[in-house]
Amino acid sequence: MPPPQGLRVIIVGGGLAGLIMGIMLDHAGIDYHILEQASRLRPLGTSISLHPVIMDLMEQLGLLQDMYRMSKPLRGITVLSANGRKKGRIDARSNKRGQGHHAMVMSRPDLHEFLLARIPAGKLTTGKRVIDISETQSEVTVTCMDETTYVGHLVVGADGAYSATRQIMYQKLKGRGLLPESDKVPLHFDKQCVVGMTCPLDPVKYPVLLDESCEVKVLLGKDQHTSMWILPLQGNRMAWCVGGPDPHLISQEGEEDSSHGSHASRGRDWCPETPVEICEDVRNFKCPYGGSVMDLIEATPKGLISKVLLEEKLFRTWHNGRVVLVGDACHKIVPFFGQGASQAILDCACLVNMLHDLKSSESLSELTSIFEKYVDIRSETARVASDSSREFADLIYDQGFKADMARNIVLRFTPTWLLKMIAGNVNSDHPHLKFLPQPKGHFKS
Ligand SMILES: Cc1cc2nc3c(=O)[nH]c(=O)nc-3n(C[C@H](O)[C@H](O)[C@H](O)COP(=O)(O)OP(=O)(O)OC[C@H]3O[C@@H](n4cnc5c(N)ncnc54)[C@H](O)[C@@H]3O)c2cc1C
Repeated sequence: MPPPQGLRVIIVGGGLAGLIMGIMLDHAGIDYHILEQASRLRPLGTSISLHPVIMDLMEQLGLLQDMYRMSKPLRGITVLSANGRKKGRIDARSNKRGQGHHAMVMSRPDLHEFLLARIPAGKLTTGKRVIDISETQSEVTVTCMDETTYVGHLVVGADGAYSATRQIMYQKLKGRGLLPESDKVPLHFDKQCVVGMTCPLDPVKYPVLLDESCEVKVLLGKDQHTSMWILPLQGNRMAWCVGGPDPHLISQEGEEDSSHGSHASRGRDWCPETPVEICEDVRNFKCPYGGSVMDLIEATPKGLISKVLLEEKLFRTWHNGRVVLVGDACHKIVPFFGQGASQAILDCACLVNMLHDLKSSESLSELTSIFEKYVDIRSETARVASDSSREFADLIYDQGFKADMARNIVLRFTPTWLLKMIAGNVNSDHPHLKFLPQPKGHFKS
């Protein structure tokens, strides 16, 4: 059955979630428009990994072969101490014989550009910061900062961790006493990092760049206060991430503060703040590829270095009226296990399948019912992905004797839950797009 005639979707945000939503809607024959606040799209310069669970979807959209060319399959994660001593290794393939599905590791800016190039001209407008959303019985109107308005039948909030769509929705629900207490609590964060991607390096100096697969190296500083992750990428580049537990929070351990881990709890002591100061902490780390780790940082163009706070929160309320959330706007996951983008893609596939089956573009009750089904299907999987990513981060960064023991055991005998998470099997739902020819079946749980 074709989608209802005239159905129009407004997507807020042109990040990975917004772009993939647009590409899927395009294939479904549903009209959409993406509003992006930035006047020029400039994604952070680091790596991203995509899980095997989304490969069938990428094949259906005709993106898979190009994505293979842009990426390297993730082979494993080797953990080393700052002086280069091997602490252990996790094989990233999905079974204990080291075979099976691989995650794809690629540059985030490359992926963003690749998806952006697949959005037809006129379907995305930049410089449109959404500040208000209002509804009638049959339509929804989005207002931007520059006072322009856009009208559609529903709004998809793909506007990231600090989503304006979510804030507008929650303000309304709060006013009516309908917002759950947990959704009033700000995003939690207890880690910060600086991320970057080098310019192309000389493979004679770094032969690892010629490897067809990607072995992630994690260098752990004393007490796990600082770490450096290094990922060889396609195009002779290396992605890196320097950081760890937010020192503002470490410096005030023992102080009573009920808002621990939120912005309100940052301490007063001096802590490394700027990317340069944070990177200084790894100056004496031994580079697994020879030379100094600072060589990689110095080979990174300034514009491709950014400082990020690693927030996390799984929101309970994902929709209200004609507005629904996808991606980081409803589940912000710590990025240590590369679940964020994959979960956003799964959200979009689930929602677009349902929109394709809508009978009427104007019925609010029908929309509410599909939004409820969408949350039912997606929220449990997103919770598992979020919890597993947090467990992995704790495994790497927790301090003390017990944490050391746990780390040593896991790094010697990779447990099944970790293997499943790496391979993407945490995703109990791995949807196909119902309206496109069925894929060959890259992913089997
Ligand atoms: C350092 C780092 C590393 C990561 N690594 C991985 C990884 O390896 N694997 C993985 O799967 N995930 C990773 N993630 C997470 C992943 O990037 C996100 O989960 C994924 O991109 C989905 O994000 P999103 O599109 O929902 O939000 P975002 O990427 O935040 O995009 C939101 C977009 O909305 C726009 N916007 C915001 N407000 C408004 C407004 N009011 N009006 C209009 N537009 C607005 C923003 O400008 C932005 O373009 C990482 C994240 C970080 C920070």
